[in-house]
Amino acid sequence: MSDFLPLCAIFTAVEDNYRHKGMRRKLIETLRHKGIQDEQVLQAIWDVPRHWFLDRAFEELAYEDKAFPIDKDQSISQPYTVARMTELLQVEKHQKVLEIGTGSGYQAAVLHQLGARVFTVERQKLLYQKSKAFLKDLGYSRIRCFYKDGMLGLETFAPFDRIIVTAAAEDVPQPLLDQLTIGGILVIPVGDETQEMRRITRLDDQRFRTETFGTYRFVPFLGGLDAS
Ligand code: SAH
Repeated sequence: MSDFLPLCAIFTAVEDNYRHKGMRRKLIETLRHKGIQDEQVLQAIWDVPRHWFLDRAFEELAYEDKAFPIDKDQSISQPYTVARMTELLQVEKHQKVLEIGTGSGYQAAVLHQLGARVFTVERQKLLYQKSKAFLKDLGYSRIRCFYKDGMLGLETFAPFDRIIVTAAAEDVPQPLLDQLTIGGILVIPVGDETQEMRRITRLDDQRFRTETFGTYRFVPFLGGLDAS
């Protein structure tokens, strides 16, 4: 019996029943209304049960288009933001994608679902440990998690076809630009109080093209590690 109870708890936590699916279907419609057009991105959002990545207390709200708190005063981004950034990233199958800011692991799972080879970096030790273990338990074992300062990118595995930063940067860190392939794309929110979403495409060794896509609000992109 003592062995059975924890298994039961795990099963309940990762259940994805008709009610969850119904709520998720509505979320997809909301995202369409808000302008998300990329069918592969919508499919990936459909494929990843967002309620798995939230505290049980938010289960009923998991498919509202809202951000929610996770551990360490961080947040899981609003589904529209995840969908829009993923759309801007233009991920193709088998590409190497670096995510800065693992947080709950949700965005990493969405990228994985698009067929990308996902590397994700988190500076908060607790979030790194929890998300790494949780993603593995859910079967996302090919997502590679790292406890590192994302300001430095992930030199050992560079270059990347795509880089996505899910925290607010004051400036674009040079290592992230350096670690893009030629033709590679970086999507990053830049700014102080509010952030402008930028898509930066590497044209050649020296030249980059920057496009902007509206205003967002993210938790800050902080330098250094946090082992608390
Ligand atoms: N992508 C996440 C959202 C995370 S919120 C999700 O899907 O849930 C932003 C995350 O970026 C936080 O977990 C924060 O700790 C992390 N972060 C902030 N600065 C960082 C840095 N320099 N390196 C790595 N992670 C960082």
